[in-house]
Amino acid sequence: MEVEYHSKLMFPHGYPDLPIRMTKFADFTMIRDDLLPFGFGTKWRKVFGIICDAKKKGTKRILLWGAIHGNYLASFTSILRISGFFVETIAYTKNPNLKTYNERLVRNHSHRFQCYANRSLALEAFNVRSQSFDGISLPEFGVHPGQILGLSRFWEDLEEEILLDLGERNKTNSSQTTKAILQMEIGSGVSYLSAYDHFHVSSICVQAVMVGESKTTWLDKTSELQTKLGLKQIPICEGNLIEIAGNDPSIPETTYGLNENSKRQRKQTIRFGKQNPFLENWIVEYYQKNQVLLEPIYSAKSVHHILTKEKRSNEVDPKLPLYYLHQGGQIQHLDLVHSRQKPS
Ligand SMILES: *Cc1c(COP(=O)(O)O)cnc(C)c1O
Repeated sequence: MEVEYHSKLMFPHGYPDLPIRMTKFADFTMIRDDLLPFGFGTKWRKVFGIICDAKKKGTKRILLWGAIHGNYLASFTSILRISGFFVETIAYTKNPNLKTYNERLVRNHSHRFQCYANRSLALEAFNVRSQSFDGISLPEFGVHPGQILGLSRFWEDLEEEILLDLGERNKTNSSQTTKAILQMEIGSGVSYLSAYDHFHVSSICVQAVMVGESKTTWLDKTSELQTKLGLKQIPICEGNLIEIAGNDPSIPETTYGLNENSKRQRKQTIRFGKQNPFLENWIVEYYQKNQVLLEPIYSAKSVHHILTKEKRSNEVDPKLPLYYLHQGGQIQHLDLVHSRQKPS
C-alpha cells in the first residue's frame, strides 16, 4: 500500500520520463540509460509494454522468477509493484546469507516470495506454479512480446538523436552507407534483437558484445527468440557479434599460484562476472576519471573492450563513430567506489 502511494509522489504521470542522454568521450559516445531511476536502466523501457499489455487484459497479478541478486528481478519486481500489480516471485541464490541492494528490492517488492538454492529448483517451482497462476507468468529474463513496445520507441528516438549528433557527416553521405556503430551486450538478447529489427535497414550498424555465452549457442536460439517476441525472422550476421566473455586476455585472471582445479573454478566464477580483482580495480579507476559507474557483468567488459581492442582492430571501419548503450545495473556495485561509512 505504501509503495503505491510513494510511487504517485515519485512519478505523478504514473511512469518516469525516460529521456535519452549521451556523454561524449574521446573514443566513443555513451548512451546513459544508467541515469534512469534506481539504476534499473533499459529495464524501465522493457517493463513498460508488459504493463500496458497487462492493463489491457485486466490482469492484476504477475509471476516472475530469476536470480535474486540480478538487475532483472530487482527492476521488474520493483517497477511492477509500484505500478500497482500483485507480484509473486520465485527466486534462487547460492548464498542465502548474502545481502545486496538487488536482493532487498526483490524481497521488499514481492507480495509473495519463495527462494531456492539453485536455478533448476526455482525453474521447477515456477513451472508448477504457472499452471494454476491466475495472471501473467513471465519466463526467464521476462522474455515477452510486451518488451518490444518501449524498446522500439527507444530505437526510433535514438536513431534520430544519433543522426542529429552526427550532424555534418550525416548530410554528406548517402543513406545507404554505414554512418555509425551502436554497441550493446547480449544477456537474453532481447535488447539486441529488437535493435537489430529496427536498425538493420538503417545507416547505423548494431553490434553485440557476448558477455555470458558464445556466439554459436546464442545464434542457434535467435529465430525462436524472435518468434517469442513477435519480431520478424531476420537472420543475424555473425560479423556483428563480438566475443570477449571470460577470455579477454587483457584482463588477467590472477590465477598465479593456484592449482589446476582452483584455476578452473576461478575461471568459472569470472565467467559470471564476479570478483575479478583486475576488472573491479579498473571500474574504480574508470569511475574516478569519468564519474561513470560501470558494473562487472556487462558494461565494464564492453567499455574495457572498446578502450583496448576496438581501437586497434578494424571490425567494420575504425573511423566510424561508436555509440555504446550503458543499460544500468550499477547501483548493486556502488560499494566498489563508496567505502562503508565507519561508525563514529
Ligand atoms: C538486462 C540487462 C542487460 C541485457 O539485456 P538483454 O535484453 O537481456 O540482452 C544488459 N545490461 C543490463 C544492466 C541489464 O540489466
